[in-house]
Amino acid sequence: MSDTIFTKIINREIPADIVYEDDLALAFKDINPQAPFHVLIIPKQAIATVNDITQEQRELVGHLYWVASEIARQNGYASEGYRLVMNCNEFGGQTVYHIHVHMLAGKPLGWPPYQERIKHNPVEA
Ligand code: 5GP
Repeated sequence: MSDTIFTKIINREIPADIVYEDDLALAFKDINPQAPFHVLIIPKQAIATVNDITQEQRELVGHLYWVASEIARQNGYASEGYRLVMNCNEFGGQTVYHIHVHMLAGKPLGWPPYQERIKHNPVEA
């Protein structure tokens, strides 16, 4: 798999506002925040998409969610709540092909999370 911008952040080749780091994971503020607190939690091991997670990597992916809970506790968002999202491929809205959990916090978030842009009607199409 070719390197993404996130590998460069892991290797400190480009700067990021890092909020958490351990041997397996790194978390940093999103450059284009969609909530008052928007961080990306990534594995240090590059995995392109959710489709590419192997059986051996299941514990690593679970670890990303534990890291999210730890960041929530450390930053005061655990009790009011937050949203965790992983986008996969084009229709999921994925733009960086190194898996990441978006953590959105600091305001009430709407649901459903999208607005339908194209109404698809197979009869009229
Ligand atoms: P995706 O669209 O793949 O689910 O999410 C990728 C996220 O990475 C986007 O929310 C985007 O704002 C963020 N992002 C892209 N490039 C950079 C960067 O260089 N630094 C940081 N901190 N975030 C980035």
